[in-house]
Order: sequence, then structure tokens, then C-alpha cells
Amino acid sequence: MKHFTILLLLCLPVCSTYPLNGGAKKEEDPNLDLLQHYLENYYNLAKDVKQFVRRKDSGPVVKKIQEMQKFLGLEVTGKLDSETLEVMRMPRCGVPDVGDFGTFPSMPKWRKTRLTYRIVNYTLDLPRDAVDSAIEKALKVWEEVTPLTFSRIYEGEADILITFAAREHGDFIPFDGPGMVLAHAFSPGPGINGDAHFDDDEKWTKDTSGTNLFLVAAHELGHSLGLYHSANSEALMYPLYNPFTDLARFRLSQDDVNGIQSLYGPPPASPDDPVVPTESVPPETPAMCDPTLSFDAVSTLRGEILFFKDRYFWRRSLWRPEPELHLISTFWPSLPSHLDAAYEVPSKDTIFIFKGNKFWAIRGTEVQAGYPRDIHTLGFPSIIRKIDAAVSDEEKKTYFFVEDKYWRFDENSQSMEQGFPRLITDDFPGVEPKANAVLQAFGFFYFFSGSSKFEFDPNVRMVTRILKSNYWLCGQRR
Ligand SMILES: [Zn+2]
Ligand SMILES: [Zn+2]
Repeated sequence: MKHFTILLLLCLPVCSTYPLNGGAKKEEDPNLDLLQHYLENYYNLAKDVKQFVRRKDSGPVVKKIQEMQKFLGLEVTGKLDSETLEVMRMPRCGVPDVGDFGTFPSMPKWRKTRLTYRIVNYTLDLPRDAVDSAIEKALKVWEEVTPLTFSRIYEGEADILITFAAREHGDFIPFDGPGMVLAHAFSPGPGINGDAHFDDDEKWTKDTSGTNLFLVAAHELGHSLGLYHSANSEALMYPLYNPFTDLARFRLSQDDVNGIQSLYGPPPASPDDPVVPTESVPPETPAMCDPTLSFDAVSTLRGEILFFKDRYFWRRSLWRPEPELHLISTFWPSLPSHLDAAYEVPSKDTIFIFKGNKFWAIRGTEVQAGYPRDIHTLGFPSIIRKIDAAVSDEEKKTYFFVEDKYWRFDENSQSMEQGFPRLITDDFPGVEPKANAVLQAFGFFYFFSGSSKFEFDPNVRMVTRILKSNYWLCGQRR
């Protein structure tokens, strides 16, 4: 709701309050027209309630205003106050928030996982490839957290047709010119169902200087897959357009993920998963026993070892004979793929996951509140953009490896220690710098570097063995 607050502060001096009872006397008050229109379109106000809006004694209208205020996260006054009016003037999706179809009692969803889409026409605001990639990226948002896949076709009937249109465009739901309604989309099904329409009177942009096509498309495609609006203002499926979204850090909220997974379930867990047709398993599934296999990050977790690679991780447990392969998003939907580093602090029952300048704290399957945080809050100089590897030892010292140097962090005092960075080769002679991952286990430090793993004994300060990186996954078999 932060963005509303900003807008509202700007607006308060010029906006007056329009209480339903009293105040606005004139029949043609444009705010009453807006209210009427908004409640009819998005809150299922019956058309014949019109006279009640005009007569100021209307219980149903007050109830509908309260319903709207509650859904949009406003103070529930039942009055057409300035905050409510301002929010009603914000750009938004044309799909209703609640109403006859609000709960989607039949839960329409696609009965297949491989869907097709077609971009029927283009806006003149953007180059065609920018439109193509915005749509592709928007579909990927949903693909990553479901078993669904999308393939583009160039002619004929696709499940999802994507169209730019202005005003009346053949579905009896005309667009409204610049501003206000930006787009709408239809729930899964044949014909027009599943299709997404974008108001070409908006100024579509790649960034947020105009209306960002990716953001609106990702939201509309949520409808195309069967989601309705969410009252959670953090959710992509919240009905109002948020021009302050940080596109570089865009991610689905847990609310969106829960919604879509309630319809389709999570993405395939492993290539052997019986519920997923083999062809929908992404082709880049890494091969566990590939002798060239390297890892992005390796960490212990509650006595198991996790090996992260691309979108996946292997889980190696002493209790199970075979490692398990999972998608990272199955366990932690909000985490990115292609991680940089991971380490566990067993005393806190927490693992910390790093990617770029961000890190997350995780307990079990829960990403902790307040994350991701910036790595510079740990005390790294601003020149450091990412870390290569991290490991924590039994003394609660965490080692962060960056290129040929390392830093040491005290988990007790939560501060970076003095005298760092130091050269890796000075303190860990024999290991290759630029580690992909470092793990502490069985009294050794294991430095993963490409397809090799250096076993380093900290007591004698020397490398004791060089193994294949995937030795613990399939070394015993060879
Ligand atoms: Zn919507
Ligand atoms: Zn339409």
C-alpha cells in the first residue's frame, strides 16, 4: 500500500471528500458516476441500484463501498472519501474484483499442461520483439511455479490469444481510452476464454515510464490460467496497477504462487515423477553422474547435503540410498534459480541462500520474513556485487569466498571480522581459488571448483584428496 500513500499525500490538498449522505447535491456529480460505474463493473452492483446511488439513503451502495474498500485495503468508511476516490481513479485491470463470478465456483482451469498462445497483433508503442519478449517473460512467471508450458503458434486457434485493441473490440466490454482500465482477460476455456486483451490507448513501455507491458501481461495471464483478483496488495493478482514495481526484482508473491498451485500444483519434482508427462520435463535437467558436472552452491541442511544446480537441487541423505532431484521452486517458490552460494547455521536451524547482491534466510521450507536482504548489510564493501561461495564452521564463523579472496563473518556478533579480506591461497593452500561452492563436513572443508572437489583438512592446513564434484552423488557407483 506504500504507493497509494504517496499518491494520496500528493492529492489530499486538491481532493475534497464526497460523503454519500450530504455534500454532493448535484445529480450530475461525476464522482457519483464514477462510483456507479466502478461498483457495477468490479463489485457486481445491480444496474437497477442506480437510483439508490443518487438518493443518499442506500444501504446496498454503502455495503458495496465497504466491500470495495475492504478488498482494496482502504479504510472501511462506507463513504466516498478522498482516498477511495483516488484509488478508483488509478489504472487497473478490467476484470471484476468480486461479484457473481468473483469466487469462480466452478474453478475453471486448463485440463492440459501444454498450452499454446498466439500474438494476434501488435501495439505501435513498442518494437515487435519487445512485445514478444514481454509476453514470453510474463508466461515464464507462471511456467516456473506450475507444470504448465507455453508454446507459441503463429496462426490458427491458440488457447491464449493476445490482442491489442481500443474501445469496442468485439466482446461487449469496450476499453475506455487512456488510463483507468489497462487490459482484461478471460478465464480458461474454449473460444474467447483464456484470451487477453490490452487497451491500445495506453502507452505501452518496456520500463515503467508508461504502462509496463510485462507487468500487465503477467497479471492478465494469471486470469487466462484461472486466477481471480487477490485482495493482497503485494500480489501480482491485486487489481490495481503498481507503477512503482521494481522490475529487476519482480517476483510472484506467495499469495499468487498458492493460488496458481491450488489449480495446477507445483512444477514437476523430478524426471521420474509419475504425474508429469515425460515430454514436459525441461530438457536442461542436469545429469547427476555427468563427469563434468559442477554445482552452483552446496550446503548442509538438517544433516543432509543439498547440491544446487540451475533450477534444481539434489538432496543427499544418509537415510536414503539414492539422492533425490527437486526443483528449487517446489520447496521455496520465491527463490531464484542459478544460485551463487548457500550455507547452514545449524544452531539457528537456518540456511542462507545467495544470489547476486541478495540473500535469503530459510528455515525448513519457509523463507523468513524480511528477506531478501542486501549482501552489503553483512559488511561487504560496495564494490562486491556477488559472492562465489560460503560456508559456516562449528565455531559459528562464516567464510565468504569472492574471486581469490575471502571474508570471515562472526555469526554471534553478526559482524564481519577485522583483517579481511585475505587471500584464499594464503590460508587454504592447495585449493583452487574461485570456488563454485564450499562445504564443511566430517571435519573437512570441501572446495568445489568446476568438476573437482578439494578436500582440505583445516588442522594440518593441506589438501588431503581431490575428488569429482559429484563424488557424493554417484562416486560410489563408479
Ligand atoms: Zn485482473
Ligand atoms: Zn476485450
